[in-house]
Amino acid sequence: MKFNTKVIHGNQHHEKVTGAVMPPVFQTSTYAQKSPGIPVGDYEYSRAANPTRQALEDALASIENGARGLAFASGLAATDCLLRLFKAGDEIIAMDDLYGGTYRLFTRLYKDSGIKFHFVDMNDLDKFQSLINENTKLVWVETPTNPLMKLADIQEIAKITKKHNLLFAVDNTFATPYLQKPLDLGADIVMHSATKYLGGHSDVIAGALIIKDKTLGDELHFKQFATGGTLGPMDSFLVLRGIKTLHLRVQRHCENGEKVANFLANHPDVDKVFYPGLPDHPFHEIAKKQMSGFGGMVSFTFKSGKKEDAISFLEKLKVFTLAESLGGVESLANHPALMTHASIPEDKRLEVGITDDLVRLSTGVEDIDDLLADLEQAFR
Ligand SMILES: *Cc1c(COP(=O)(O)O)cnc(C)c1O
Repeated sequence: MKFNTKVIHGNQHHEKVTGAVMPPVFQTSTYAQKSPGIPVGDYEYSRAANPTRQALEDALASIENGARGLAFASGLAATDCLLRLFKAGDEIIAMDDLYGGTYRLFTRLYKDSGIKFHFVDMNDLDKFQSLINENTKLVWVETPTNPLMKLADIQEIAKITKKHNLLFAVDNTFATPYLQKPLDLGADIVMHSATKYLGGHSDVIAGALIIKDKTLGDELHFKQFATGGTLGPMDSFLVLRGIKTLHLRVQRHCENGEKVANFLANHPDVDKVFYPGLPDHPFHEIAKKQMSGFGGMVSFTFKSGKKEDAISFLEKLKVFTLAESLGGVESLANHPALMTHASIPEDKRLEVGITDDLVRLSTGVEDIDDLLADLEQAFR
């Protein structure tokens, strides 16, 4: 089955009793039993499994080419569940440019867990390899990154993780499986903030893990069941509905993203533009190799380098909404230093390049003429 068919039909079936084409929202916590321990159907309690969540989890496995999908109450709940595979003394190597909440989870919540985190530039493969020792268990990569659109070469990293028998997880939130399939490129686990492109309509907080190996998938399902950060039936329905148009939306996000990036690259007030589709982007070649398009996320800085210019620009936008988050049908704008990435200490933030004049745009699927006119007027 091709991807554009999988988003609609992959691992899906009509509801058994009524033939409903979409799975109903099974808004129930529990299920009747015929005799103690013998349920009427396949379900006992919704923290363990719920038919609506199951339909979404099956769809997730299908679109990422994994053995098992798991749906969580948020992207961070998904990452937290994955971290429960590890114990004191284990080491995790992560990319040095991460979503702020992931960085906070790793460095603040797991600070006293005894798990050691290393942060490294994943494009320096020698440096990355020099950090591997017998305690290393997991490699965590986000590509492209939020908000600087750095990329990591999934295939090259997978060669190394396979050689050392390490688990390799990729946060595929920005690319979505429409543009990039980490499991096909050698990763073991894909993580999503389904709040973003998978949901696609800015109406739900949700997360996902998709696991290539069934045994590991079952182990993570046990941890999901035992810790309980599961996605509710209504939210599962919303994400499943979103996935059905993922291919259509992301195609338009890419078209609009490319036009916005080109507009900014030619604007006299703009200094740097971060978009993997631009030929002078430092990771353009990797993007062409592992992604089938360049997405809708574009960041840029001002020639003046002034924070006030970024703030004034953001206040003047009318079609773009100044808000956290990304990946919905509507265009959003964000000031990473003051908003999404405020939890990263200032010196670390500046070191990776999240400067005070950096603006991040999530280009939606509106008419491109209205988006460009809005950006143009906001510069004046
Ligand atoms: C938003 C986001 C997350 C966190 O997901 P939530 O659904 O907000 O918990 C993780 N990674 C990336 C790249 C994100 O954009």
